[in-house]
Amino acid sequence: MLDWYPGAVVLLGPASKAGYPSVSVRDGRGAVLHSMEGGLAAAHGVLSGPAQSSWHFSNPKVGPLEQHYAISRITWHGGSLGANRRYVGIEHEGVAGEPLTASQIENDVALLGWLAENDVQPWSGLIRLDTLWEHNEMTRYGSKATACPSGRIPWQEVIDMVTIDYVARAAAEAAQKKADQNAYRSRIAGLILSGDGETAYREMQALRKFTGLPLVVV
Ligand SMILES: [Zn+2]
Repeated sequence: MLDWYPGAVVLLGPASKAGYPSVSVRDGRGAVLHSMEGGLAAAHGVLSGPAQSSWHFSNPKVGPLEQHYAISRITWHGGSLGANRRYVGIEHEGVAGEPLTASQIENDVALLGWLAENDVQPWSGLIRLDTLWEHNEMTRYGSKATACPSGRIPWQEVIDMVTIDYVARAAAEAAQKKADQNAYRSRIAGLILSGDGETAYREMQALRKFTGLPLVVV
């Protein structure tokens, strides 16, 4: 498990504003998305100030994500212990009525794809009301009612884009594997054709455990 998202700028929140006396490490899977209802500078003020409010990621209108806490830490964004111990908190700069910027959507797509593979518990997929949540849906854990994130998250677009990314990456990996196997086959075939069967056999034995290919080349 990785605690820090490689695509984010690290801007640490106060160490005192994470965890609970009874539990300090997240034990769920998924993310809750929020709207800052203001600008990034004001949100930084809240994060570093005395308010009992903290979150893992800030997604600014322009520029890279900021990560404030390791994803295994419990931050105080969802309004209750039940919400916070389960979910990563992602705040979005801007206010109700403002759609996310293209940059914010791109940041979310990359981050959610990464979280699905690296969260403290594996994600079963990008599924609304399972791994993907809005703050206002945390009332089920006893959190106070809120409008946050005020309909600002274009869920279907985000989920579709993560899926396309994933499929493209899987296809690229499969193509690379096939190219590696073909290069291996050509090399062994070349050795055999040149009469160096002994080297070919040694290489096949040595490489077999990496490629998973059978020893016999026809
Ligand atoms: Zn919120």
